[in-house]
Amino acid sequence: MKEFLCEWDRSQAGLSHLQKIQQRNEILTLKREDLLYTAMAQLVQRWQGLASRPSSDSATRVEDTPLLHQVWTRALRSGFAVPLRGDAEGLNDLESIDQLLATSGDAVEDLIPLLRKLWERLDRAEAKKDRVQEIYQRALDLLFSGSAELCAKDPWFSEQLKILHKAFHQEPTSVQQAQELLSGLTELLYRQEQRRAPVSEMDQALQDLLQLVFQYVEALTEGSSDTYNEFVRLSTEIERSDDPQHIRGLVATLIERSRSLQDMLRESRDALRQARSQLEAARGRVRNMEEEISQLNLLVHEDPLTHLLNRRGLHLAFDRETARADRHHLPFSIAILDLDHFKKINDRYGHETGDQVLRHFSALLRQSLRAEDSVARYGGEEFVILMPGTRSELAVQILGRLQENLRNHPLVNTKQAQIRVSFSAGIAAWQSGVTLDAVLLIADQALYRAKQEGRERIYLGMDPQASRPA
Ligand code: GH3
Ligand code: MG
Ligand code: MG
Repeated sequence: MKEFLCEWDRSQAGLSHLQKIQQRNEILTLKREDLLYTAMAQLVQRWQGLASRPSSDSATRVEDTPLLHQVWTRALRSGFAVPLRGDAEGLNDLESIDQLLATSGDAVEDLIPLLRKLWERLDRAEAKKDRVQEIYQRALDLLFSGSAELCAKDPWFSEQLKILHKAFHQEPTSVQQAQELLSGLTELLYRQEQRRAPVSEMDQALQDLLQLVFQYVEALTEGSSDTYNEFVRLSTEIERSDDPQHIRGLVATLIERSRSLQDMLRESRDALRQARSQLEAARGRVRNMEEEISQLNLLVHEDPLTHLLNRRGLHLAFDRETARADRHHLPFSIAILDLDHFKKINDRYGHETGDQVLRHFSALLRQSLRAEDSVARYGGEEFVILMPGTRSELAVQILGRLQENLRNHPLVNTKQAQIRVSFSAGIAAWQSGVTLDAVLLIADQALYRAKQEGRERIYLGMDPQASRPA
């Protein structure tokens, strides 16, 4: 397509250079096929306009015509062949256009209705595709809501499911987003599998134990009734007998019987004990698994590089802290910080050292702030601080001290080089009922000004409500 546009550009004698460049750039930036077709349609119309305009230099135009036809043929082939794949009738129409271009000297008049017909076909195909996609989407929704019900008791799984569900609704716009989605799904499946293993192991152990109990209870009742009958028989015989020899024999049998009964009882007790300890072990493994899952839950709220909160953690902290501030009518400030010229640190010392600087800065942040302040890594080298009970003027002073602390504590790398970094910040005062995004926007505008006006500055954001004239 680019090739076509370049050749078309060269062959357009009727337009000024600037007009040509503008048109070409407009089209080159279009990524969606349907937009491309519309742009091509407009091009055809423009071309038609040019063709019907009396030309002062007819020699150049005649010379250009075969080249234009060639270019058109190529453009139409590459523009339509892919979306029309599998559509025999459409491909047939495309063939007719091809032939028209090859045989007719001035094909534009006949070309337009044929092209229009093709676009209509594509429109219809697009609508059908949308409908199929909608059905898939609904099936997916059903699947998600079904799975959500199944794991309603498990906050970790339902949270993961919610994330995935949301991700499916927002079509990934980059390879990275798609990969994140995929790894989220893989992790979910992996965890599910891992969890299922000890649970079913415990089920099995329980079943085995129950079976054992039944077996032994059965054996015991059978055994004891047999033994009981045997005892009754032997004791009656002993009562009746006058023969000491016979009696001695009967007593010996009696002792032997009771001994075997004892053995059987001991055996059954051992088996029960063993089964119970197996059950305990399985239960322990399930408990460990549950602990691991709650650890994972923590991790999901934490940024792995800096151990500060991640965005999810920040949202939870914001909800918690603003609810508290509301209850106690406390002021609440929020700050957004961005490291200055961080790219240069990466470029000069490498990405590893860049990461080290991020960790160093995060540790300094944590040390310099109060325990009740929540600190999150908001993006690459962007941080957000929630300061409950703090007026924004005080927040400016606190960040000023942090800036100084940072100046006094540069990171010293393995080569003993001192790596200095500064930050710019924007601060906003939170008001009851305002969302995190809204208050961050105000802080971010202040941060932008701080960057614009030379960096290493801390600016206070203006609440648009407050600055509105009364
Ligand atoms: P400015 O003062 O305008 O903020 O300049 P800057 O160079 O800090 O700004 P920019 O946003 O252009 O660059 C930020 C850089 O931070 C780009 C990116 O390579 C780097 N970065 C983002 N995340 C990470 C990370 O996790 N580790 C490292 N080492 N670098 C990161
Ligand atoms: Mg940045
Ligand atoms: Mg930066």
